[in-house]
Amino acid sequence: MGKPRRSLNANVPWQGLLGELGVTVRSQGLPGVVRCPICKHGVLQVSEDRVAGGQWHHCYECRSSGDMIELAAKTWGVDVESAVVRLASAGFDLPRDADAIHAYVRQHVRYRERLASLWKQSQQGLLPGIGTFLRLVHELKLGCNVSDKRWRDGPTGLPGGIDTITVERTLAPGAMKQADACHQKANPSSNATFRGQGWDDVLVMPAYDLPERICGFMFIGRDGDPEKDFIFRRANLGTSANQHTAEPFEAGLSMHPQALKMAEDWDQTVFALDDPLVALRLQMRHFEQSTRPLPVAVWYDSDTRPLGQRNGQRLRTMNAWAMMGTRKLVFWSPRLDAAAIRQAAHVDGLISTVGPRNPKEESLKDFVWKYSPRDLLRHIQKSARPWHEVLAEQMATMTDWDVEQLFLRLQTDGEDREDILRRCGQTVRQRVARIFADRQAERTIVLDGRRISERRDGWYVLDGKPKRPE
Ligand SMILES: [Zn+2]
Repeated sequence: MGKPRRSLNANVPWQGLLGELGVTVRSQGLPGVVRCPICKHGVLQVSEDRVAGGQWHHCYECRSSGDMIELAAKTWGVDVESAVVRLASAGFDLPRDADAIHAYVRQHVRYRERLASLWKQSQQGLLPGIGTFLRLVHELKLGCNVSDKRWRDGPTGLPGGIDTITVERTLAPGAMKQADACHQKANPSSNATFRGQGWDDVLVMPAYDLPERICGFMFIGRDGDPEKDFIFRRANLGTSANQHTAEPFEAGLSMHPQALKMAEDWDQTVFALDDPLVALRLQMRHFEQSTRPLPVAVWYDSDTRPLGQRNGQRLRTMNAWAMMGTRKLVFWSPRLDAAAIRQAAHVDGLISTVGPRNPKEESLKDFVWKYSPRDLLRHIQKSARPWHEVLAEQMATMTDWDVEQLFLRLQTDGEDREDILRRCGQTVRQRVARIFADRQAERTIVLDGRRISERRDGWYVLDGKPKRPE
């Protein structure tokens, strides 16, 4: 599918629509909270949709979710096409011709339904007794020895399992029609989700950027190697941050449907992890002891561009955190990388760096196995502190070179680096300012085919391992 047209939903501002539906709007800011016009008694939350445009609704009572046009359709009890016509008659800036309405329904409403049904199918795929996923589950250590009933109440929430052909048929139906015509099994397009040999069944984690809206999928297959066998596929949702725009993009959050509710048991805390396999392993082991999931959300760093290609534009791709509401966020980042600092600073969260004391001798995987999942999260929770304190402490043990690299990565977000520095202590600010002043004063020359950098504190060879003055 090509780039979808701008959603008609962008032409239906929420205050005007709710007025039309007879709902009183008391505050103008988003996210807004009003009485649900569909079930009449639930709390309806209205959020800004920064990906497809316009606003998005979600009712905690009747579980309705969708854009403003779908809200009108459900309230009136009519189909989406009729709702567009009725809204156009009420004065909203919407087309009445069938083609334009049909394109919106197909590219937005039906497309989202297709993503939701792919996820539903995947949830059925991983039920116990269905043999094809045993290899993956066993090799990735995601086994969970519970009764079928306990499985349906717990692990069915996350992850799912499905075959790659069904995924391609859902995400790229056009390309798969061509494949069928040539009797090919795989998606021949260069945009195929799964490229290379050996893909059959995959584990599936949907990512949400708004309540109940899937904005992408994490697929894990083959040998579960994070470099080659983890695939994040973003959905083709709208004119910005869709499949056709450059990185970074809105990658949403993956979590068990009950995860946010479970934060209540943990002093309103949600644990933010960037490793999907570690998160799934914790959850699966935990389900053997409990029927309640852990409050874990998995985030994905969608900026994989090398430093030189980063454009210094402010990242506006972390809107999914708004789903957390007022809950505390603890980022678990044993290696404290720039992506985790950026995310934590964005939501003013806490960071815990607990991990193996000697990463060379003990891997993170072994470290995780030492604890019960609940004890590990308690340990993380106890050691978590405001992100800027953790950053300052870590910097005290870092070389100038490492600090420079870290802040270059943070610079991806131009203003954000300044914003992050502003919120750090004076010691951090002064050191970073000095390092970058030194950097500006440096000179690079080429000598015997080697690039050498001259700085105030010495000469550095830039090729190879450039960390020691020579
Ligand atoms: Zn409702």
